Amino acid sequence: MPKNSIPKEAAYQIIKDELMLDGNPRLNLASFVTTWMEPECDKLIVSAINKNYVDMDEYPVTTELQVPDYYNQNIDVVGDESMRKHDSTEAAVGVGAVGSSEAIMLAGLAFKRKWQNKRKAEDKPYNKPNTVTGANVQVCWEKFVRYFEVELRDVRLREGYHVMDPEKAVEMVDENRVCVAPILDAASGGFIAPFLYPELEWHFRLPLVRSINVSGHKYGLVYAGIGWVIWRTKEDLPEELIFHINYLGADQPTFSLNFSKGSSQVIAQYYQLIRLGYDGYRNVMENCHENAMVLKEGLQKTGPFNIVSKDNGVPLVAFSLKDNSQHNEFEISDMLRRFGWIVPAYTMLPDAQHVTALRIGAKMSESSEEKGKNGTFVLEKTEIETLREITDAWKKFVKARKTNGVC
Ligand SMILES: *Cc1c(COP(=O)(O)O)cnc(C)c1O
Repeated sequence: MPKNSIPKEAAYQIIKDELMLDGNPRLNLASFVTTWMEPECDKLIVSAINKNYVDMDEYPVTTELQVPDYYNQNIDVVGDESMRKHDSTEAAVGVGAVGSSEAIMLAGLAFKRKWQNKRKAEDKPYNKPNTVTGANVQVCWEKFVRYFEVELRDVRLREGYHVMDPEKAVEMVDENRVCVAPILDAASGGFIAPFLYPELEWHFRLPLVRSINVSGHKYGLVYAGIGWVIWRTKEDLPEELIFHINYLGADQPTFSLNFSKGSSQVIAQYYQLIRLGYDGYRNVMENCHENAMVLKEGLQKTGPFNIVSKDNGVPLVAFSLKDNSQHNEFEISDMLRRFGWIVPAYTMLPDAQHVTALRIGAKMSESSEEKGKNGTFVLEKTEIETLREITDAWKKFVKARKTNGVC
């Protein structure tokens, strides 16, 4: 911090110029995190940037979006009607978080506490919890075990099998296990599977799954800073972890690692849900998948690459060189960077670390979004047509809400 102030225009220009040296987020194909949203949503984001999401009493409408009615809205966040098929008598609970990392800390903590309570009740030792995961899990799991003092047992990978081997995982399980299956880390896939693979048996339809987390800022289609976690029943989230803040007479239950935070991401998630609806999300996911397949075929046609990703799942293409005696994958990544494209090259985890791959994720972008199902672009609308659409959508929206006693 310098001693003297400078004019605001100068501060703006200095920072704007400095930031030009960053990569361009729209050319960043490394991450699944959203880098484009519609200008209408950008406006909502900026207009909510000064709202602290923890001030529930001051911002009751925003609060309603982030601490939704346990029995209705929250469950719809990561799915469709099929999410409810598990057992309609079980009422799920959930919270918004900064991302899947915070969501996983909360889910892991809830499960650890539940396990400890059970062990205490049985008069058994409860100080050596462990968790079994694949070696391929995201770094936040390693953070969770280190911060919350849980031993990590990871199942190693092998060539051609880059996910957790369930048989090996079962061998590692003992009575001190906190979780193998109970926490379903659907950070990337949670907003893909319901739209591209509605028949897949993955969520609460599996009886062992106790919680599911998802990154709203990946295929939930919101900019960085939002994630969600849902527990199957109220009993899966020990009551002692919920803080009831009594603020001006109103009970405000919270379960989070932080306190103050902006409201923009929660509002932006709400925008995407009502703007796109189930059909819109399905369109976006289908477009992303189609783009990944076009890219895959193009890469295959060029000749020198092996495709190492599968066609199903998260829309991405991972590929490696058939012959890396002349050049390697890291050089290709560097070369693409010269043109502004950010495509990471990385080695796989133990025991498959001799495999190097490049990875490109397909994401929603400005051009993919307005493209209709048959590849036709939506025509310019007149002002009066737009107004009519707004009125119609409002009417339908209010009608659907009336049953909740709102308005
Ligand atoms: C991205 C990711 C995470 C971390 O999620 P954030 O939302 O970035 O905190 C955790 N698990 C998996 C599988 C992921 O893909």
